Amino acid sequence: MGERRLRGLPASPGVAIGRAWWYRPDELRVVRRHGESAEVERARLRQAREESAAELEALIAARRDRLSPEELAIFEAQRLMLDDPDLLARVEETIERGASAEAAWEAGIQTVAAQLRALPDPYFQARAADVEDVGRRVLRRLLGVSEALELPEQPVVMLAEDLTPSDTATLDPARVLALVTSAGGPTSHAAILARRLGIPAVVGVGAALGVVAEGTLLVVDGNSGELIASPSVEEQTSAEARRRIWLAERAAAGEAAAEPAVTRDGHRVEVAANVGSLEDARAAVRLGAEGVGLLRTEFLYLDRTTAPDEEEQLTAYRPLLEALEGRPVVVRTFDVGGDKPLLYLPLEPQPNPFLGVRAIRLARRHPELLRVQLRAILRTGYPAVRVMFPMVATVEEIRWLRGVFEEVKRELEAAGAKLPRDLQAGMMVEIPSAAVLADRFAPWVDFFSIGTNDLAQYTLAADRTNPAVAELADAFHPAVLRLIRIVVEAGHAAGRWVGVCGELAGEPLAAPLLVGLGVDELSMAPVAIPAVKAAIRRWMLAEARSLAEQALGQDSGAAVRDLVRAAAPLPGPRESSD
Ligand code: PEP
Ligand code: MG
Repeated sequence: MGERRLRGLPASPGVAIGRAWWYRPDELRVVRRHGESAEVERARLRQAREESAAELEALIAARRDRLSPEELAIFEAQRLMLDDPDLLARVEETIERGASAEAAWEAGIQTVAAQLRALPDPYFQARAADVEDVGRRVLRRLLGVSEALELPEQPVVMLAEDLTPSDTATLDPARVLALVTSAGGPTSHAAILARRLGIPAVVGVGAALGVVAEGTLLVVDGNSGELIASPSVEEQTSAEARRRIWLAERAAAGEAAAEPAVTRDGHRVEVAANVGSLEDARAAVRLGAEGVGLLRTEFLYLDRTTAPDEEEQLTAYRPLLEALEGRPVVVRTFDVGGDKPLLYLPLEPQPNPFLGVRAIRLARRHPELLRVQLRAILRTGYPAVRVMFPMVATVEEIRWLRGVFEEVKRELEAAGAKLPRDLQAGMMVEIPSAAVLADRFAPWVDFFSIGTNDLAQYTLAADRTNPAVAELADAFHPAVLRLIRIVVEAGHAAGRWVGVCGELAGEPLAAPLLVGLGVDELSMAPVAIPAVKAAIRRWMLAEARSLAEQALGQDSGAAVRDLVRAAAPLPGPRESSD
């Protein structure tokens, strides 16, 4: 058997069988020849930059609706990079010294990328790849090489070391059965793209992927992260059966998406969406969201030189809330700082940004930023608005936050503003201290929403952005599940509702566990809604409770997954793994 079976991280669910097709972006070979006259080389560079700018602008305009706010921000930053005065001055100087436009441009880009990689902050380190990506776009123009990503006519299993933002934006989903990368973690561009397009994906397979030859038949299981090269007849038959079930379930789940999620014995669970843009909000409604359990507002704060003022925020929130047609919406106050620095605030570089000044820790240092956001949220007058504070670690913090919230409310009322009818204020539980002490936090909030992405990373001390340890930050881990139980019990004892808005909520396999633990609301990426609703409908509440109880007694996340697969009522996730 040996290397016939490979393992990576499951990044997007589903099963596919197909021929391997390696995507190896053209090595753009730059000959270090001397250029024509400096004037000719400068003109060539200008033309290549202008064409690349037009290409990027067209890409942004055509795909605004399909790209996430993060991806849009990357392309917008790349567009700005093309006119960066420091970069251009350096490149022109190299041209003056006799280099060709391509050699000078490549050297300039490499210098900027190397400077970014040398910074301690992972956010800037990650930007180096984006700079190289836009660098290649211009180089392709200069060298007369076409857009790199040309897929074969017949659908293939696409293998790559990793994908750049440009690759992901130009990829034709109809020709890709599955995506497999040797690098990257579950939050890489490839993984995000695959989930959005509904393509099965496995990432972070490592160097072992290199042994898979072009054209090899491959089984890709995006649920388990397993790959089988040259499968036997039995392995193919089993994979085909799992694929058929996956496709049928997806279709059936889509049809029933608008119906509520009720267990077989009548227990209803609210299913809501995580939203970060107007397009997400529309998708949420189409896919059957009963509300928004997490509106991420970071998009208002990043990649700009001044803080967004109250009016600008109001203008951003209003259409988004209107799209939700009265459904309850939880607006999270900004979770920026730390790993996502703000140009308009003087923040010291932080050795451990995830353990540093971010979210409400930043708000305490700059309360005016928080007050402006709270005023804008409340002034929307949207009937069912809930405000949620991220990264709360201590009771003292939530008391302070509640105080500011009440003060802003009073001020607006005194000024005659029409406030939301059904206004609530709650907190995210994403730091173990807040979970363990949930009963002490409960008097200060109207609800809890558990952020399992951060809760898992802090519980298992594994940086969720570091592929080397990403697998450790597993929200299925019984330690995380036990914390969830503590929060639900404390919340319910105080009469508060409890939601989960981390990625775990969007995993059909986690649905019986969370329902069994008593979670009232699950909030997830809009595309995950149909499948999670379908998963909830397969269970009896009593079965889910006993499963959750057993899960709490396991040793690992893997054991918890196995437990759920083994217990899943048919048709269910049991078939998605062998
Ligand atoms: C979480 O931590 O689970 C969460 C939902 O917040 P974010 O992913 O934005 O940190
Ligand atoms: Mg979080």
